[in-house]
Amino acid sequence: MLALGRRAKAPPVAVAQGDEIRMRRERSKTHPAASQPRTDRTPDRQLDAYGIRGKLPDPTACPSCGAIYRAGRWAWGSPPADAKRTTCPACRRIEDDYPAGLVTISGEFAAAHAEEIRNLIHNVEEREKQEHALKRVMAIEEQAEQLRVKTTDAKLARGIGEALHHAYRGELDYRMSEAENVLRVEWKR
Ligand SMILES: [Zn+2]
Repeated sequence: MLALGRRAKAPPVAVAQGDEIRMRRERSKTHPAASQPRTDRTPDRQLDAYGIRGKLPDPTACPSCGAIYRAGRWAWGSPPADAKRTTCPACRRIEDDYPAGLVTISGEFAAAHAEEIRNLIHNVEEREKQEHALKRVMAIEEQAEQLRVKTTDAKLARGIGEALHHAYRGELDYRMSEAENVLRVEWKR
C-alpha cells in the first residue's frame, strides 16, 4: 500500500450548500481505497444489530420501547398478539451507546441560549419520532462549553443541525465518517 503515498490523504471534498453550510466527506469516491473491501469498518454483526442488514420476522415488537416492525419498517402502534420480540435498532444503539449521528453545538450565542436550544432539539426529535420510530435523541451532554447531542439516526442529527441554522443562522458543517458510520454535525454561533 506504499504506492498510495500522499494521495491516500487527499483533502476532503467540499460541497457548497449556501454560504454557511459545508459538507465534507472523510473519504472521497475517487479515493484509491474506496473500492477495497470494508474490512476496517463496522463489523457486519454490528450492522445486523442495528437493522441495517438482515430481516426480522413480521410482526416483531421491541420489548424496550414498544415499537413494532411491520412491512419492512419500525413504527409505533399496538403490538399484535403473534408479534415476535426483538430489541429495535434504536434501543440497541442506546444500550450500546453507539450513535449514528453526533451534533456538536458551540459558541457564545449557544452558551447564552442553552435552554432554548435544548427545547428546539426536543421539538425536532418529537416531530421526527412520531413518523419515524427509530429517530431518537440518545443524550444531550455538556462537555467543555459544548453541547453534544447523540442520535440514533443520522438524518435526525442533520435535521437538528438544519433546525438550528434555520432558527439562529450561525455556521453549520456536516462530516460523514464512513469508517465510524456516524454523521458528525457541527453548529456554531
Ligand atoms: Zn426499541
